[in-house]
Amino acid sequence: MNSHPHAHSILHKVGVKGVGGMGVQFHPTLLGVNSSRAGSSGSLVGVGAGVASLEGEVGVPDCAALYPVSEEALLHNLHSRYKRDQIYTYVGTALISVNPYRRLALYTPEVIEAYRSSCVFQLPPHIYAVADAAHRGVWERNTDQLVVVSGESGAGKTEAAKLVLQYVGDKSQPCPRLLQCNPVLEAFGNARTRRNDNSSRFGKYMELEFDHKGDPIGGTITHYLLERPRVTSQLQGERNYHIFYQLLAGADIQTLKSLKLQRNTENYNILQSTRLTPSDTQDDRHEFGITKRALDVLGLTWEEQLEVWKVVAAVLKLGNLTFTCVSNIDGTEGCINENAYELHEVCDLLTCEVASLSTALQTRSVEARGETVVAELSAAEATRTRDVLCRALYSRLFTWVVSRVNEAIKVKTLARRKVLGILDIFGFEIQEVNSFEQLVINFCNEKLHQVLAEVTLKLVQEDYQREGLDWSMVDVPTNTPVVDLIEQRQTGVLAVVEEVCARVGSSTEALLQQLSFSCGGHSLFDIKGGRHQHSDNNIPADAFRIRHFAGSVTYSVPGFIEKNLDTLHRDLSRCMFRCQHRIMKELFPEGNPRRTTLKRPASVATQVIISVSALTRTVRSKQAHLITCIKPNELKQPRILESALVLHQIKYHGLVEQARVRGEGWAYRATHEYTFGRTKVFIKSQRAVHELEEYRRERFEDLAILVQKIYRGWRDRQHYRALRAAQICIATCWR
Ligand code: ATP
Ligand code: MG
Repeated sequence: MNSHPHAHSILHKVGVKGVGGMGVQFHPTLLGVNSSRAGSSGSLVGVGAGVASLEGEVGVPDCAALYPVSEEALLHNLHSRYKRDQIYTYVGTALISVNPYRRLALYTPEVIEAYRSSCVFQLPPHIYAVADAAHRGVWERNTDQLVVVSGESGAGKTEAAKLVLQYVGDKSQPCPRLLQCNPVLEAFGNARTRRNDNSSRFGKYMELEFDHKGDPIGGTITHYLLERPRVTSQLQGERNYHIFYQLLAGADIQTLKSLKLQRNTENYNILQSTRLTPSDTQDDRHEFGITKRALDVLGLTWEEQLEVWKVVAAVLKLGNLTFTCVSNIDGTEGCINENAYELHEVCDLLTCEVASLSTALQTRSVEARGETVVAELSAAEATRTRDVLCRALYSRLFTWVVSRVNEAIKVKTLARRKVLGILDIFGFEIQEVNSFEQLVINFCNEKLHQVLAEVTLKLVQEDYQREGLDWSMVDVPTNTPVVDLIEQRQTGVLAVVEEVCARVGSSTEALLQQLSFSCGGHSLFDIKGGRHQHSDNNIPADAFRIRHFAGSVTYSVPGFIEKNLDTLHRDLSRCMFRCQHRIMKELFPEGNPRRTTLKRPASVATQVIISVSALTRTVRSKQAHLITCIKPNELKQPRILESALVLHQIKYHGLVEQARVRGEGWAYRATHEYTFGRTKVFIKSQRAVHELEEYRRERFEDLAILVQKIYRGWRDRQHYRALRAAQICIATCWR
């Protein structure tokens, strides 16, 4: 991206109407020049105006046009637009989307068609305009594009990602399989949380490929870090993964019978944290139909689907096993399983021997000096083993489903094409009790925030400076210290968790002590007894607090070690591998006794660091289009915008800084040759073409300067027609 030239963001300000009584004004920007260089060509601002569809716009459709720009002005602008259901607002080429919490008539085929056939500045801000820009980037300019959706949990990221997919997928030759990926992934990877009824509990990156006509022909999905603890326990009021409820509510009697399941969720321990209402059950039934149809379209046969349901059912039933302590004659403690019938059913579903599974759950074999010693587990240990198996079965099933979906949407040619990526990760969250999974989620958000600030604000400004444009740097708040605090080798929070987990007999106390020792001195880290503890911070003895970019979060340390390791003992993986169930061998390859290399599976902390650095590379390597989702209220209700909540998001997303950089900078960038070609096509005046040719012969490396020069020259000589032509040209390029 280094030497890409720029054109000016005036294009989004064209046709904008007055704000009337809001105390905010338009930025007096003119074509091709900064506000400081604004000349007298006011008449040009009317170019492209009067487009009927912009008539009803409230406030400013592009926050970069606010002057002066401030958090309050942004809030006011978003609020007045939100009141009129104008949920989308630009900041230059980036888009802000405020969750309406109700269906708006914004996504009809007619609207799609309108965005496909119009210039971006002729229509109100819309997510389709962003999708269109990314799509054109791939098939017109042949460059990798990336739509990054960010925002906290419940802000609307997943919905936004789906709308982008809908737009690019809704072509003359739609690719039905692509559109069916989401219902499947959401059924298996989303759950109701306090903050969002359909919260993504995994990160999703989807890459689309197109044919020469620009129609999508397939793609791949990468998933990051499904939240595993949820499979066996959820906070009060939250739910397990949707698919459990869907299957129970939606499967026909015959299927339920063959899965040995009963309809009522109260029969299953792992589903008991929420009492369901009849309407929940009705929704689940309906959603199951959607999931099943999606699986059909993706090409999963009835038998394959049954295999999947069997694993889901096995997890439900496994969760019901209870163990009680028994004292052995030799004084050692062992346990027995209280639910022999349920265990039999699990073994039926997975086609494995009862004795084999029961041994694997209740004993542990250890090899020492060539001998195998078998130790009995206590009831508490067996219960933990059961939970680890439930989580392993479910999370591996999820991975299997994603790879099956990938097979279905795979592009069958070898030629590597340019791609359009859509990134939708789990949003930042602060719960009443935050644990290891929140640390993982919040760290991913922290890292994404860092890299987005870098590509959208820091590098852009560095480009301006390098290319010699008039530019005074806008300060960009950085979250690098928090990122370092968490990810630094050896002394970062994740590294400390790793280190303590690797110790024999690791404990929560040891982890707290080590965290205090390694991180206690960091100004963004608080722990009881830590060096930087602030007097007003009432941190519990078993917790630590991190001041994240989006707020302070107190993490409760008990459970960190188990959640990080979550490793399946070899006895269990071997037992699972021996099952006759068709996909078990794929799910537990390490259980193959012929496999000699016994690589320890990576802990969650290690996986996080690997995934996050892959994610960062993805964002850096593509042209990014930004969608920032804003959550208007905590009640999940339409028509309510809580000012303090939105103001907080405006602050931590750095929207004011973005508005400044975009408002005074150059929002559009294209290659030299491309812009030259397009400009030439639109310019009617021979003299102007000649002039452009001359400038080109001078071989300006930097088109921004070239364009600036041309514009200034034309403006001074009042070549308004040429200017207008160039303006339209650049708007067209932006599409
Ligand atoms: P998480 O990080 O928890 O996954 P998210 O940012 O992905 O959260 P979504 O699941 O996309 O949040 O949105 C939450 C809910 O808000 C949706 O289920 C839907 O009800 C509503 N919503 C979001 N965007 C829109 C929209 N454009 N139109 C109507 N409703 C929406
Ligand atoms: Mg989501």
